[in-house]
Amino acid sequence: SVKYFNGEFVKDSISIDPNDRGYQFGDGIYEVIRVYDGKLFTGIEHFERLLRSAAEIQIKLEQTVDDYMAICERLVAENYIQNGNIYVQVTRGAAVRNHLFPESSEPVTFIYTYDSERPVQGMKEGVKVITTDDIRWLRCDIKSLNLLGNVLNKQKAKEAGGTEAIQLREGIVTEGTSSNAYIVKEGAIYTHPANNLILNGITRQVIKTCAAEMGIPFIEQSFDKDALFAADEIFISSTSIEVTPVNQVDDQPFAVGPVTQKLQQAFEQKISAL
Ligand code: PMP
Repeated sequence: SVKYFNGEFVKDSISIDPNDRGYQFGDGIYEVIRVYDGKLFTGIEHFERLLRSAAEIQIKLEQTVDDYMAICERLVAENYIQNGNIYVQVTRGAAVRNHLFPESSEPVTFIYTYDSERPVQGMKEGVKVITTDDIRWLRCDIKSLNLLGNVLNKQKAKEAGGTEAIQLREGIVTEGTSSNAYIVKEGAIYTHPANNLILNGITRQVIKTCAAEMGIPFIEQSFDKDALFAADEIFISSTSIEVTPVNQVDDQPFAVGPVTQKLQQAFEQKISAL
């Protein structure tokens, strides 16, 4: 399939410089964008976040949101992607290894597409999650390539028979390793405020809009482990898992509840409206 690499659309394999700072330091950023029926879902929002992440780590990008959208639309069309994902990665580029920013290095951009079906079973029945310490850095608002904390916690969830880990920092629920986390209590949705401790998910922002449209309170207020276990409903969200109910946390079962299902229906309508 066709990929975009440093200004070119290429069919053949590409070569990455071993001195690329993404490879050596995780010095870069990324996005994952969902494609439904050949159309990008919230593409603009994803590229606005990419530009923000870049600015936060002082990577200067030449492309605009429109440029990225045009690149992705071309890839989706040329690769005949109907339902799939687009992966976008930008690193600070290649330079002789040194922690300091290079005097001169050009950002390296890589974009590719792949087919992917919606995870309908988890969305219907719910998924099992574990709780674990949030061992990540303090700038989780940047969608950085440094994902080791996320990787270790997700693996821990898998080894415990779950699919995601809900992470806690000083007893407060932050988010999943690749998702945002929410509880429903007495008809209201609670989720961690969008500060430096979580990634402000694009799906989270869609859910916030859906909740507002349906008159469901969406309260951006942190909650602790006791509140998690006392929740009426729990769900997680991301570009790939959309709104996914949680049916078990550690050893405690949870039912897939009506607020979660209403959000799923509202989300479905956003997709249909594309
Ligand atoms: N938090 C983390 C740590 C993530 O990796 C993701 C997935 N990118 C999310 C939240 C959800 O973000 P989005 O809805 O933009 O996919």
